[in-house]
Amino acid sequence: MKPLLAAITACLTLSCAHAAELTRIPADAIATATALRERALTDPTAYDFVAGLTTEVGQRLAGSANDQRGRDWVAARFKALGFDKVWTEPVSYPRWVRRAEHAAIVAPFAQPLAVSALGNSPGTPKGGVRGEVVMFKDFKALQQADAASVKGKIVYIAYRMHAERDGHDYGPATAGRSGGPAVAAKLGALAFVLRSAGSDSDRLPHTGVTAFAPKEAQLPAAAISNPDADLLERMLGGAKSVTLHLDLDCGIDGHYSGANVIGQVTGSERPEEIVDIGGHLDSWDPGTGAIDDGAGVAIAAGAAHLISTLPQRPKRSIRVVAFANEEAGMIGGKAYAAAHSAEVGKHVLGAESDFGAGRIWKLASKVKPEALGAIDQMMQVLGSLGVQRGPNGAAHGGDFGSMGEAGMALLDLTQDGTHYFDWHHTANDTLDKIDPKDLNQNVAVYAVFAYLAAQADGDFGSAAAAAPAPSTH
Ligand code: ZN
Ligand code: ZN
Repeated sequence: MKPLLAAITACLTLSCAHAAELTRIPADAIATATALRERALTDPTAYDFVAGLTTEVGQRLAGSANDQRGRDWVAARFKALGFDKVWTEPVSYPRWVRRAEHAAIVAPFAQPLAVSALGNSPGTPKGGVRGEVVMFKDFKALQQADAASVKGKIVYIAYRMHAERDGHDYGPATAGRSGGPAVAAKLGALAFVLRSAGSDSDRLPHTGVTAFAPKEAQLPAAAISNPDADLLERMLGGAKSVTLHLDLDCGIDGHYSGANVIGQVTGSERPEEIVDIGGHLDSWDPGTGAIDDGAGVAIAAGAAHLISTLPQRPKRSIRVVAFANEEAGMIGGKAYAAAHSAEVGKHVLGAESDFGAGRIWKLASKVKPEALGAIDQMMQVLGSLGVQRGPNGAAHGGDFGSMGEAGMALLDLTQDGTHYFDWHHTANDTLDKIDPKDLNQNVAVYAVFAYLAAQADGDFGSAAAAAPAPSTH
């Protein structure tokens, strides 16, 4: 707040010479946003959207047949919702396919395991691999291991993730998933298995992406469910060595041309200036992609649709981006930045929803100091929804993160993720996990902020960053 106070003080002492620099939201816009908030709480659009997408399409693994079906479905729904313009922008990436997966403890006590191959994992040789298990408590312990202890064995990382409202244990839990297989490959391991990055005790594995550097050794890699990890660890705690059999039929299968799907409510006064909202359209394949991230696309679409029903179009355009292939590393977000970062100053403010459908409880921002007063005005409308003010300078933007690195102003609208990682990336990511009332609270928050950003006098600080534009993949 200090720079804002300084600017206000300058106004008072210098006959308000700097008043034009402060971003403000007109009173009539606040009144309209308050009415939008109330309508959003009972509007069926977002729930109908995610129910339709998960029922009529289902899982949307990037590069699968359902990738195209999902895009077609969303483009048709955007048009049906009355958006002024609907289009796609190309995104291409290596196609990873999952055909079959099987794992079992062979000795000392034979037991089957619920397993899921990690995205980007190569397959095992036909018939699978069989090897002794060597356990590490977390990724760091694996990084410190010597090759002699790992060579020819199946590496297992035992890190157990805990449920938190803000999901902050996901980072430590996925360090091993992202980097473990590549490290284990370098140490000469036979395969890689980890305890699922999930906070549940269902016998369902949590998939997710892993990464290998180009031209470096790759390793078959999979996650086992939490109860199976408990079982494995009980055996590892005994006197006898433990042998696993892992049989994965999966891997990269050529290149795929997909797309981001974009719908726009076109502004009436400054149509070339854009408020960006969205979610990612792709999902993992075991579930139906309801909480990750059909809900995010639905929330953004529901908010933009509500705004489109006002008697007048907003001053600025509001754009809903349904991103392609977030799961393999925000590939759609990087493509969006590659296409639009040259005009980043026109993208006035952005926020992505990608943390399920729990209620939003915090608003963090990355805006210029002169726009903090306008964020405070937004907070006045959002307060009754239970949203608290988070810090400025701390927003990451999800798939808009690459636009953020290029200089776009961002909001992070943090949802309650206490249960998100119980279901995330599993067969349990299904529509019944979404509470329509909580979903509508999200729609209300997005409708309010997007509308107020579109009506604001002044900007939020989007400008070409000094840093180089993000790489395009
Ligand atoms: Zn997601
Ligand atoms: Zn995900």
